[in-house]
Amino acid sequence: MARWLRSLVGALLLLEGAAALSFLHHRYEEMVQALFRVQSQCPYVTRIYSIGRSVEGRHLYVLEFSDYPGIHEPLEPEFKYVGNMHGNEVLGRELLLQLSEFLCEEYRRGNERITHLIHDTRIHIMPSMNPDGYEVAAKQGPDSNGYLTGRNNANGVDLNRNFPDLNTFMYYSGEINGRNHHIPLPDNWKSQVEPETLAVIQWISSYNFVLSANLHGGAVVANYPYDKSQDQRFRSHRRTVNTPTPDDKLFQKLAKTYSYAHGWMHRGWNCGDYFADGITNGASWYSLSKGMQDFNYLYTNCFEITLELSCNKFPPEEDLERQWMANREALVAFIEEVHQGIKGMVSDENNNGIAGAVISVQGIGHDITSGDVGDYFRLLLPGTYTVTASAEGYQPQTVTTTVGPAAPSLDVMMWRQHLFPHAPLSPWLRGFQCSATICILPGTKHAIRLVARG
Ligand SMILES: [Zn+2]
Repeated sequence: MARWLRSLVGALLLLEGAAALSFLHHRYEEMVQALFRVQSQCPYVTRIYSIGRSVEGRHLYVLEFSDYPGIHEPLEPEFKYVGNMHGNEVLGRELLLQLSEFLCEEYRRGNERITHLIHDTRIHIMPSMNPDGYEVAAKQGPDSNGYLTGRNNANGVDLNRNFPDLNTFMYYSGEINGRNHHIPLPDNWKSQVEPETLAVIQWISSYNFVLSANLHGGAVVANYPYDKSQDQRFRSHRRTVNTPTPDDKLFQKLAKTYSYAHGWMHRGWNCGDYFADGITNGASWYSLSKGMQDFNYLYTNCFEITLELSCNKFPPEEDLERQWMANREALVAFIEEVHQGIKGMVSDENNNGIAGAVISVQGIGHDITSGDVGDYFRLLLPGTYTVTASAEGYQPQTVTTTVGPAAPSLDVMMWRQHLFPHAPLSPWLRGFQCSATICILPGTKHAIRLVARG
């Protein structure tokens, strides 16, 4: 080959290597190629893994961004985006491919904001939770797509109505007295869910996700839990009942973070509907049972919202670039919200992490738990909070902390109960004399340090 030809071919290959993802719809094979292309362009900060297969055997791929892909670093929160759960709602899928490429390119370019984000966060991106439904919708194409064609999985099941119904358990179970966190699954749950749902439940059980969004289409609004209203008896004549979680103010702020960073979502008038600030409580829009966002909140530590991103569920390719520009900042800003609140290590007197410790915030009736290495992440709005960590066999620890614009780090060291033979178990610290940083049981050598820093 002549030298000029060789260098021309080389230049073309170089161009191809750096070629931006085009604004096209991606069928399954093309989506997989796009993910692996990003992975090969940013090999040191990405990893691809599959959480399982769809009914027709397609992989449910996740692209992970982290400075240590494949590893949970203590105190580094886990974030996820899930797209295309309804196979015919395709904008989220394309936006997540664009986002993947954007994160990779900006990281390579040395963009400070993106570099910090990837170094401080473990980001998981699943462009399609329903690849089978997508293929059905895509065969029809953008123009002739029926409103529901391809929405369900290959067994004809709506995946966003397929998660175990923990709301009913919470609303009606006297036994747990309205408990709304880490509600146990019914015994037979595995036989009642689809393969895609099963894969997602196992996925979110094995990672300690903190924040998440689930991308849909057919409206333009940021929707936050609960999706299911408390009293279904009134449903027939009054379908819309605002059904807030104990974290309602926080969820509103998370939803507004997206809507106000979005090109037009915050304006409220979209697709013939009006939502003030471009956000809505799910149940106050329409009540939905067995959805994914309520399940995240009731079963895991993850706070999930549902993003409705376009009036047209299958927008034409000409519209994709405009949609990306409208969503790009919102997609990044929402990930950054995972750092709002408090986090820390729960450890014992020997500095070993305590997994599964319960973190309660006074005045907010929703607890979260520490992860495998003892780290916990509690999303909170700015303010002053009294936080209690408790774990079986240990003396509970209560600390007061202030959340400002930056998240403080609040480590909790817990002592085993048997180290305190004189200390009453309940109420905690009876007989102790406490200053801001230490509690002493008079007449003994027993002391508890209250550790708060940052
Ligand atoms: Zn949907």
